[in-house]
Parts: sequence; C-alpha cells; structure tokens
Amino acid sequence: MWSLSSRLVCQRALSLVGGTSTFPSFPMLAHQVLSIFFMLMLILPVAATADWYKQEQSIMGTRIAVEFWDEDTQHAAQCAEQVFSEMRRIDALMSPYKPNSELSRINQQAAGQAIQISEEMFSLLKKSLHMSQLSNGAFDITFSSVGHLYNYREGIKPSEQEIQQSLATINFRHVLLDEANRSVRFARPGVRVDLGGIAKGYAVDNGIAILARCGIKGGLVSAGGDSRILGDRGNRPWMMGVRHPRKKDAVAVMLPLSNTAISTSGDYERFFVEDGKRYHHIISPRTGKSVSTTWSATVIGPDATTTDVLSTTLFVLGPEKGLQLVESLAGIDAVIIDAQGQMHYSAGLMPPATEAADSGTEIRQ
Ligand code: AMP
Ligand code: MG
Repeated sequence: MWSLSSRLVCQRALSLVGGTSTFPSFPMLAHQVLSIFFMLMLILPVAATADWYKQEQSIMGTRIAVEFWDEDTQHAAQCAEQVFSEMRRIDALMSPYKPNSELSRINQQAAGQAIQISEEMFSLLKKSLHMSQLSNGAFDITFSSVGHLYNYREGIKPSEQEIQQSLATINFRHVLLDEANRSVRFARPGVRVDLGGIAKGYAVDNGIAILARCGIKGGLVSAGGDSRILGDRGNRPWMMGVRHPRKKDAVAVMLPLSNTAISTSGDYERFFVEDGKRYHHIISPRTGKSVSTTWSATVIGPDATTTDVLSTTLFVLGPEKGLQLVESLAGIDAVIIDAQGQMHYSAGLMPPATEAADSGTEIRQ
C-alpha cells in the first residue's frame, strides 16, 4: 500500500524539478548507499509498524514532532514528554521574544558591560562565531541588529534608511566572548543577537539524547525544518522528503536516511510578499535584506546543531560558495535549490544504480 504511495511521490519529485537538475533527481548519500542485498531486504515483507509512537506539539514557534519505536506506550509517553519539556526549557532560555530569556538579557545588557552567561549559552555563541569565521560572515547571529526590524507575520519591514543606519551593527566581531569569565560583551551599542539559525537544531540534538537515554533504538525528533534520526525505521531508512519551495505539498527530492541529521532552510517558512517582492526570515548580513539567490538549502550531517547552522549558512552563500564550503567539510552533504529552481548537489550525493527501493514513512522537511 505505501510502497505505491512512496513510488508516486518519487515520480512527482522527478517531474517537479527533474528537468532543471544539475544531477538526476533522485540522489542518495554515497556513504549511505544501500547495498543490493539491503535493497532486496527492503522489498521483502516487513513486520507491522503498529508500535511507532508519535506525538506533536507546538513549541519554539514551530511544530515539534517525535516518533519512535516503543512497545510500552506509557514509557513512550514519558520519554516524549521529556523531549517536549526540554524544548520548552530551551525556548525559555533562547527566545528573543521572551523578555526574561537569557538571550533577551544579553541583548538588553551586553552593550554596556560584560555579562556572565550559562555554559550552554556560551557554547552556542561560540559555535555561532566559529561558523561566522568559517563562512566568511554569511552566518552571523548579529543579523538581528537589523533583522529584529522585520515582522513577517504583520508584513512589516525596515525602511532603506533604517537598514543603512543599523547595518554597521551587523558584524559577528562585535560579539566578544571571554572564556575565563564565561561572559559576553558587545563592542558597540545597537548590536543584537538571535539564535534562530542554531537553537532548533540544538534542541533536536538534546531531544535525541533523551530518547537514547530512554533506551530507544529507532526514532526521529524534528523541530520545523530540523530533524535527527536515531537508528533506522525498523530495518529501513527513513524517507525524508525535501519540500518543493514553490509548490505546496510537493516534494522536490526524497532522501533515504538513517542515523543522521537533516536541516532545510527555505524562503517559504516565514515571509510576506509586497509589490511582487518576497521578504523572508533569512537575512544577508552584508545588506540587511532577505537573501534572494536561494529558494532552499538542505544539509545532511552527523548532528542537527551542525546541519541547522549550515543550512542557514548555505542559504546565504548560495550554490557556488555554499557547495565549496560543504566540500571542505567532512561528513556533510547538501542540496541547494537556487532562485531559478535549479538543484545543486554536493559530490557525496549521487543517483542510485537502480530505482530506489520502497521504504519508510515520507516526511516533509
Ligand atoms: P533556519 O530556521 O535554520 O532556516 O534559520 C533561519 C533563522 O536563522 C531565522 O529565522 C533567523 O532567526 C536566523 N537568521 C537569519 N539570517 C541569519 C544569518 N545570516 N545568520 C545567522 N542566523 C540567521
Ligand atoms: Mg538552519
């Protein structure tokens, strides 16, 4: 039954973006290519998957989903609740919209003085600055110095003059970390930071760690466009579908994945259109405006903190520089869909030798 639906989705994926691909449209990870033996296993009858426990909640302004194999429903419910409460804890700490979050305290006070922060916050700020260095400033949490002037839900954007006035406050070098005192200070007034490009991936990693501690062997945690897979889906890979950026409910590409993380950043997540122009939530630190060269960037890697940061980074860098960065990093692959709808794959992704085997649930990234 669902082998048929899976095949239909694959064909739809081919017809939607296949014509414009730089590679054939059904890529697979080279390091995760299924052997012919494994492929045969996949099409043999498999055990019923009645005990996949699934829960969803709305936290961090996004849809959090957990799904895992657990024959004890009560135990499953307890573990899922631990994941959700961890997400709520991280939201309370890192939300820019909650005036009492640690992040808000930093934004309110760090321009005047160095302020001591939690180990957790320090480590995420440090990771963010590291990615800024690596991406030559494409990933920059101080994008928020201008970024906070946008309100996508209400269709509000800063004027050209406001952008120009605040643009100099976007620079990751304005964030000064002091390891010895575990403190942060901003080099000038007007600087703001926002962890929207890393916090969801971090929360997903913590969610997966909770499931692993619960003894779960196969499962998935996702927060909007950031997901991580623990093990596989009952001797099959999870089929992760990357949304078509311009066709609602359509899949651009399907990726069979196990034991890995995947993040997608897209210009369709939070946006409004005015005078035919799309204003969305991924901001070029160079211009203070929404990046217009990319529709979506998907990254596959070992953990969701890394894939989250990198998906936002690649979105800003675009296909050419983005894939150059990916090729310099071990264990990372990516698919970037540019603003013409063309798909660009990293070298580690390649088409399978045969038609992809039917397997797993289809998930939209
Ligand atoms: P993602 O959800 O991973 O697609 O990342 C998008 C989020 O990252 C936005 O909602 C912002 O909070 C944040 N963001 C936007 N532009 C940048 C940027 N240039 N560098 C770092 N974070 C950004
Ligand atoms: Mg991201």
